[in-house]
Amino acid sequence: MDVWNVKNLQEDLMSAPDVAQLDRHECRTCGYVYEPSEGDKKGNVAPGTPFTELPVTWRCPNCRAPVSKFGNIGPREGNTVGFTENAGYGLGLNKVSGQTRSLFIFGGLLLGILFLMSIYLWGN
Ligand SMILES: [Zn+2]
Repeated sequence: MDVWNVKNLQEDLMSAPDVAQLDRHECRTCGYVYEPSEGDKKGNVAPGTPFTELPVTWRCPNCRAPVSKFGNIGPREGNTVGFTENAGYGLGLNKVSGQTRSLFIFGGLLLGILFLMSIYLWGN
């Protein structure tokens, strides 16, 4: 029992399919937003299905546009959505926003690992 377990856990966390799984995708044709945590009831898509795992036959429930008409607008949380939404429009600042965002995500991950380790140490 040991540090080894914690290390594996850490690797799991690092390699886990991260937030990208929860990225929402917007239909460029009609503005419909696919929300992975909700899925698509009309299209028989279960809640929690990432956009990337939708069947190739899936189409926008609103205007029938194919998957290729959709653009990634990032996960639904706070103000990061706005940054991601503008990311495709070539503003120099977006790069900074993206990096800051990654930093937050990584920092949160690190905090989580530290937290888990402290529980582990406490248990001893
Ligand atoms: Zn649409």
